[in-house]
Amino acid sequence: MILKSFESDLIFRENTYLLTSGGKAILIDPGAEPELLIGEILSGGYRLLAVLATHGHVDHVLSAKPLCERFGSPFYMHGGDRDWLEDLQNMCTRFRLPYYGTPLINHDLAECSELDLDPFHFKVLHTAGHSEGSVCFLTEDLLFSGDTLFRRSVGRTDLPGGDLALLKRSIRETILTLPEETRVYPGHLEATKIADEKCHNPFLVL
Ligand SMILES: [Zn+2]
Ligand SMILES: [Zn+2]
Repeated sequence: MILKSFESDLIFRENTYLLTSGGKAILIDPGAEPELLIGEILSGGYRLLAVLATHGHVDHVLSAKPLCERFGSPFYMHGGDRDWLEDLQNMCTRFRLPYYGTPLINHDLAECSELDLDPFHFKVLHTAGHSEGSVCFLTEDLLFSGDTLFRRSVGRTDLPGGDLALLKRSIRETILTLPEETRVYPGHLEATKIADEKCHNPFLVL
């Protein structure tokens, strides 16, 4: 399995992740420019099996619609963030972003704890707090943590649906219980490891 990341120039330096294996691909949190991501998938000749979103904020779903449409791929998101998705066009206007359309949720992650997308297998960890419908995706020893956990920080909880106590509980009970060597790929900033965050993340001194 090969992991490639793209930092979005469009908004909040959001990290989009592309996982590939044997000619197949999964895209997580497509906030980078659609042309860039489409070009990457075409040039690699990949079959895009799915587009996954850790949550419904604009920077994580901006390019989902054109990607799903171009490759006929299903979109996976937790229905708890449906209001954010429905507000996507307004959010684009507010942040002066191009609006590429709003994807339909084909698979509601509220109903999934595992995703079998051969050859990829993900555990879906429900980690509400940054938003109601926030999830993290675990595959092998890689955790895609969205805006729940960052290197030395955690996601903001001052937006509608945010809850700091819940966020801390999600991190403590669902993320910090993973093996210490688990590598964490967040929605913003650099990658880290569970062990490092346990020792050095000032927000996790509970
Ligand atoms: Zn967010
Ligand atoms: Zn974000």
